[in-house]
Amino acid sequence: MTDCESIPFLDLVSPHRELEGELMEGVRRALRSASFIGGAVVAEFEEAFAAFCQTRFCVGVGSGTDALRFAMMAAGIGAGDSVITVPNTFIATTEAISQTGALPEFVDIDEHTYNMDPVSLKKYLEVHCILDANSARLVSRRTGRRVVAIIPVHLYGQMAPMDPILRIAKAFGLTVIEDACQAHGAEYYSLQKNRWFRAGCMGSAAAFSFYPGKNLGACGEAGAITTDDEYLARSVRMLRDHGQREKYHHEVEGYNGRLDAIQAHFLNVKIAYLEVWNEQRREAARRYRELLNGHGVGLPSNPEGNSPVFHLFVVRVNDRAGLMKHLAAKKIGTAIHYPIPLHLQDAYRYLEYRKGDFPVAERVASEILSLPMFPQITADQQARVAEAILEFIAQQAPYYHSVAC
Ligand SMILES: *Cc1c(COP(=O)(O)O)cnc(C)c1O
Repeated sequence: MTDCESIPFLDLVSPHRELEGELMEGVRRALRSASFIGGAVVAEFEEAFAAFCQTRFCVGVGSGTDALRFAMMAAGIGAGDSVITVPNTFIATTEAISQTGALPEFVDIDEHTYNMDPVSLKKYLEVHCILDANSARLVSRRTGRRVVAIIPVHLYGQMAPMDPILRIAKAFGLTVIEDACQAHGAEYYSLQKNRWFRAGCMGSAAAFSFYPGKNLGACGEAGAITTDDEYLARSVRMLRDHGQREKYHHEVEGYNGRLDAIQAHFLNVKIAYLEVWNEQRREAARRYRELLNGHGVGLPSNPEGNSPVFHLFVVRVNDRAGLMKHLAAKKIGTAIHYPIPLHLQDAYRYLEYRKGDFPVAERVASEILSLPMFPQITADQQARVAEAILEFIAQQAPYYHSVAC
C-alpha cells in the first residue's frame, strides 16, 4: 500500500543521491591537498554565487547568522544603535542584530504576504521615532537609541516589498540589509527601476544561509554576504578572518567566520542545480494551489511583480493543531515557521514588548502551517497531502465518513 508511505516535510537524502560521486570527489581532493580553509574552491563559489545573485561581490562565511552579523558590522552598525526588523522570522535575524551591540526593534507584517508591512514601517518611523535636533539623527522613543537600519526578511522565499522599503529607508537615512537566507533566486519587479531584481542585490548588502535545508544547502554550516559595495565586501572579508588584512596584521578584532573549502565544494556542485530546483519548487507550489484552491485553506499570496522560490509552502487554517495531528496520523510531515513571534520569546523579555503589540504577526503565527515542500516532491505525494487536508476540513462538517488510510 504505497498510499500509506510517509511523506517527509523535507527530503534531504534524495537530492544528494545522484550527486554523491561528485560531492565525494571534492572531499578526496581536499584531503589530498590539505586545502580545508579558503583557497580557490571558496573563491570559485563566491564568484558563482555573485553571478547568480547579480551582484559584484560575494563573501563566503560560516553561516547565515555570521553573514547577517558581518554585513551589519561592516555597514557600521553597533553599540548604541537600533535596527528594525519583523517579529516573524527565525531568531538568527535578531541574534545577529544583538551581537553587533545594537538592539532589535519590530514592526508588524502584512496580513497576506507575511513580510514586512511598509505602512507599519513608515508609521513606526514617524510616530515612534523622533529626529534629534542636535545630531540630526533619528532616535527611537522606545530605546532612546539611534535607528540606523532596516532588515527586511524575504520570508518563505518571497521577497519583501523592496520598492517602498527602500524609498522609506532613503527618506529616513537608513541602511537596508536583506535577510535573504530563505530566498536564493527569488525575484522582485521594481516599478521604481522598471526591471526584475534578484534577492540579495537591492539592499546595501544581503545575507544568505546555506544551512542544509535551504534552497541552496551545504552539507554542514555555510553562509554568504552579497553586495555591490567594494568597501563593505572588504570589511566583511576582514571580519570573517580575525580582522586580518594579511596574515597576522589585524586591522580590527574580527571573528572566526570563514566558509570552509569542503562546504564550498559542495556548494559549487549544487549551485548548478539551483535554478532547476527552484523551478521544481514553483511547479510544486502551482500544484498545491490547484489542489487546495477554493476549499477554505488560506494559500500563500501571489502578488504581481514577485517571483518567490518557495523555500516553504505555508497555508493558513483555523484549527492548526487539529490539522497537524490529522496529517501526522497519515504520516505526513509538517512544521510551523514560526510558532512564537520573536517579541514574545523569553529571550526578548528584556525588550518589554507585550502580547498585542504586533497583532498581525501574532494572528498569523497561530494559524500558519508549512506543508511538505522540496524539489523532488512528486505529484502523487502532493495529491495525498491535499486529500488529507480536504478530508480534515470535510470531517468538521456533519455526516462525513472518512476513509482510513
Ligand atoms: C536560516 C536562517 C537564518 C540563519 O542561517 P544559519 O545559516 O542557520 O545561521 C537567518 N535568517 C533566516 C530568515 C533564516 O531562515
